[in-house]
Amino acid sequence: MLIRNLFILIIILLAIWILRILIKKSSTAQKQTSTDSKKMVQCKYCKVYLPLDDAIKTRNTYFCSQQHLEDWETGSNHDDH
Ligand SMILES: [Zn+2]
Repeated sequence: MLIRNLFILIIILLAIWILRILIKKSSTAQKQTSTDSKKMVQCKYCKVYLPLDDAIKTRNTYFCSQQHLEDWETGSNHDDH
């Protein structure tokens, strides 16, 4: 009788364990798709990559900060080659 109860307990624990793995797997998969869709842009001044949401855009050019935008604008020779 005791062995039978123990067997049922192991089955229940195993089911919970499998369920937890499945939930964890699906949540991480959703996270990956959201990060993949996030567009990355490069700062024209220091060449660092940053998310489009955090970038400063001016005339189809991206900058990581207002300071780099100003530094690039005031820079003497920056032709589009
Ligand atoms: Zn920069």
